Amino acid sequence: MSQLMLRNVRPFGHGAIDVSVAGDTISAIGRDLPLPAGATVADGAGALLLPGLIEGHTHLDKSLWGGPWHRNEVGPSRLDRIENERAWRARSGHDPAAASLALARDFLANGTTRIRTHADIDTEIGLAHLHGTMRTRDAMAGTIELQIVAFPQSGLTNRPGTEALMDAALREGADVVGGIDPCAIDRDPVRCLDVTFALASRHGRPIDIHLHEPGEMGAFSLDLILERTQALGMQGRVVVSHGFCLGAIPDRDRDGLLARMARLDVAIATTAPASGPVPSLAACRAAGVTVIGGNDGIRDTWTPYARPDMLDRAMHIGLRNALRRDDELEWALECVTSGAARGCGFARYGLGVGDRADLVLVDAATVAEAVVAAPPRRLVVAAGRVATTPP
Ligand SMILES: [Zn+2]
Repeated sequence: MSQLMLRNVRPFGHGAIDVSVAGDTISAIGRDLPLPAGATVADGAGALLLPGLIEGHTHLDKSLWGGPWHRNEVGPSRLDRIENERAWRARSGHDPAAASLALARDFLANGTTRIRTHADIDTEIGLAHLHGTMRTRDAMAGTIELQIVAFPQSGLTNRPGTEALMDAALREGADVVGGIDPCAIDRDPVRCLDVTFALASRHGRPIDIHLHEPGEMGAFSLDLILERTQALGMQGRVVVSHGFCLGAIPDRDRDGLLARMARLDVAIATTAPASGPVPSLAACRAAGVTVIGGNDGIRDTWTPYARPDMLDRAMHIGLRNALRRDDELEWALECVTSGAARGCGFARYGLGVGDRADLVLVDAATVAEAVVAAPPRRLVVAAGRVATTPP
C-alpha cells in the first residue's frame, strides 16, 4: 500500500499539522507524525489545505473545452439555446467522450476530485452522450469520482420515446435521474414529475431537476417536487438545480418553501449566474437547506464563460451573493466542498481520518483569500495519489 506524508499544511487556514495517507485514505492527522516506512514525503511549506473540490452541477458532455473558439450567435431564449445546440450537434460531429475527458482532466489539475455531470438524453442522440461520459468516468476512475445524471434536456413527456431512453440510461450506468422545467418545457408538470419519480423509484436512484422556471410557475413546480419527495420517501435524495423562482417570489413564500426543503432534506444547486434572480445563499443557510455549487455549462454552445476551477466558481457565488466578510466567504467554499458532498451524496468526504485522501494545497492565508484569489494549486492529491506537482 502506498504511503504519503504531507508535512506542514494548514487545514482551512488553521495551525500547521501533518497529514498521513495510506492507500486512498487519510490515516492520521496531527503534529510531527512519525514517518511510516517507505512513505513519500511532501513538504507543504505552510500552505492552506482544503479537501478535494467538488463540481456539483456541470455538463461535461456539451463542452468545447480545448477546441477552437466557437462563435456564439444563439437567440435570446432558453428554447433558442436548446434548438441551437441540437442543430449544432447534428452538423458538427461533436464527440462527447473527448470533450468530457479534456474538461475532467483540467478539473483534476485544479483540485476537483468529485463531479456531478448532466448528460443529455434525447430522441436524436439517444444514449451517445451518456456513453461518452461513461468512458470519461472509466478513464478518470481512481482520481475523479464522477456521478452522471441522465438529463432529458429537450423534455421528457413532450417528446415520445424519451422515457424509454431514460429507463435504458439508468439501466446502463447513469447514477441519477435528471429533469427540466416540468411546466415550461414539458407543459404537463404532474405527468412529467410522476414519470420522473417513477423512474427514480424503479431504479432506486436519486433525482436532480433543473428548475429555471420563473416566480409563481417555478414555485408551483417546486411544490409538486416536494409533495412527491415526501409521498415517496425520497428525503435526502432530491436536488433542485437553479431554483431561480426562489430568488423572485416574496420572502414569506420563499421561506415557506425553504423550510419544507430543509425538512425533506432537498438540496439546491446554484451556479450563481451573473444576471436574473437566484436563491439567496444566506436565506438557504438560515433555513438549513444544503447548497451545492456548480459551473453549469463550461465553454459550450450555451455559454462562452466558466472554467474548470471550483475556487473560481466559489468566488462567483460569493460575488453574486454580495459576500464580503471572511466568515461569509467560507459559505461560498462550503458550496464546492462539504455542502456539495452532502447534497450529491459523495461518501468519505473531508479532512478527517478515514476520509478519502483528496487534498488540495494553495498559497493563501485563509479560506477567504483562497476563494477570492483562486491561486494556482501547489499540489493535488486524488484518492491518495499525487495528481499534480508544482512547476
Ligand atoms: Zn445545467
